Amino acid sequence: MSETRYCYCCRVHHPIDQMRRYPTRAGDRWRCLRSIAAANCSQPERDAVGRKQSEINREQARRLAEYGRTLRRRHE
Ligand SMILES: [Zn+2]
Repeated sequence: MSETRYCYCCRVHHPIDQMRRYPTRAGDRWRCLRSIAAANCSQPERDAVGRKQSEINREQARRLAEYGRTLRRRHE
């Protein structure tokens, strides 16, 4: 049987030739190449959520600016 490592991303063991050390805030963890390529772990997910939130903020700012222009036009 070939050597395996526990993948903290998939929470299963993979053959060691598919594993890479991956730095996290808690220290280096073993992650499989597939999960790194898919970037489906918590950190990239949080980044994606952050990007989505800033998109929403930008959209709200744009709508507010448009609303302000509409109000000013009504008063002219
Ligand atoms: Zn994995």
